[in-house]
Amino acid sequence: MIDLKGLTLETALDDLKARRVSAVELTRAHLEAMERARPLNAFVLETAERAMEMARISDERIAAGTAGPLEGAPIGVKDLFCTRGVRSTAGSRILGEFVPAYESTVTEHLWRDGAVMLGKLNMDEFAMGSSNETSAFGPVVNPWRSGASNRSLTPGGSSGGSAAAVASDIVLGATATDTGGSIRQPASFTGTVGIKPTYGRCSRWGVVAFASSLDQAGPIAKTVKDAALLLRSMSGHDPKDSTSLPADVPDFATAVGRSVKGLRIGVPREYRVEGMPPEIEALWRRGVEWLKEAGCELVDVSLPHTRYALPAYYIIAPAEASSNLARYDGMRYGMRSEGETLSDVYEATRADGFGEEVKRRILIGAYVLSAGYYDAYYLKAQKVRRRIADDFDRAFETVDALLTPTAPSAAFGLGDNTSDPIAMYLNDIFTVTVNLAGLPAISVPGGTDATGLPLGLQLIGRALDEETIFSLAGVLEKSAGVTARPEPWWVA
Ligand code: GLN
Repeated sequence: MIDLKGLTLETALDDLKARRVSAVELTRAHLEAMERARPLNAFVLETAERAMEMARISDERIAAGTAGPLEGAPIGVKDLFCTRGVRSTAGSRILGEFVPAYESTVTEHLWRDGAVMLGKLNMDEFAMGSSNETSAFGPVVNPWRSGASNRSLTPGGSSGGSAAAVASDIVLGATATDTGGSIRQPASFTGTVGIKPTYGRCSRWGVVAFASSLDQAGPIAKTVKDAALLLRSMSGHDPKDSTSLPADVPDFATAVGRSVKGLRIGVPREYRVEGMPPEIEALWRRGVEWLKEAGCELVDVSLPHTRYALPAYYIIAPAEASSNLARYDGMRYGMRSEGETLSDVYEATRADGFGEEVKRRILIGAYVLSAGYYDAYYLKAQKVRRRIADDFDRAFETVDALLTPTAPSAAFGLGDNTSDPIAMYLNDIFTVTVNLAGLPAISVPGGTDATGLPLGLQLIGRALDEETIFSLAGVLEKSAGVTARPEPWWVA
């Protein structure tokens, strides 16, 4: 019996290469773990047969000496990524039983490199949310529980299934996406590592669009090194995405463990928001100390437009969403509701197919783009976006990276924020700025709160400089030395 608890991608790949374990054995063990973990609701589709077939091929390639860098590693795929011949729903009813005839570039890269797909992971509908509660498949439950109670907590969102599956050792890593924090906040809530790379690093081709100028794919993993290994595969220029960057993909993993001596790290004072829990403050201070001990120089910096980021994001993201989601009309994909006329069919399909949060975004988006309001809202938000990017540019003239908390709290209870959209949106306060500026940022476990729940620290880097934040994240991971793991209460 293979012990999956805490097994990292890095170790598993070594074991596979040395033939201490076969891809079939490793995959079977993960499939069993996936079945046992059904109470977490992390998967919306299990693809066991396909996984076993992929594992068999991996074993053949390992035997033939033609193994790829991720050969035989079982992973999960957020259901926002289109997978050829496998139902892809984006967490929405409106896509129904949609089975794509094409593969997203990111997943194509992972299969090219030998990864094995265990299934499709639950998520907020169209990636809109911070708690996984907008999913048409019901919420994901965080494998972590607070020491104070057995209450079900959110794993965060929108990549809640990805984060929960990694944290509960069902997968060795997962794909995720981040439009305003959806990789980093779930990573913070589940004690995992999540990186949103530079906008354009990973192709958006075949990833269901939410807000195209902000959407970016990235991995959620158990360690910084694992995240680096996955990101390398996922990245790369793609002519099928006009915003994909024609940049070389470095070997990110070699940056992990690299010395950070002499690096200048900015601590942005505007991120010290009112009402911030003392535990988050303490976590941040610890992060500062750890980087100092590693030889970094910590400096106070100002990003003066930070407080306008959240309002600007919640105009720009819905505006783009309202346009992107216009294609779901009951004709082209998935479900279709009955109606007398064509417009009746459109209306009925969209009324039945979209959930409440998605409808709210479409309404806000259509409003801020409409004649008379465009200048007041959308255009203004675009100007704010420029200012925010300029703030970062100015800061990066004097520092190599920035350190902040990832989220303003630890995981909260399912249902706690569902009646107040603004309270939910406030979760994204430290993460949306980075999407607006297109920069890379990573969340790494920094410790736990008083009740034993994980808390994450965020490092923000210059465009295309993921390597620096990987090296710094490696230092934080080592210094924090988090060994706590969730108790597997979900195993009956
Ligand atoms: N929570 C944010 C939102 O609801 C971000 C989601 C995301 O990054 N996909 O828009």
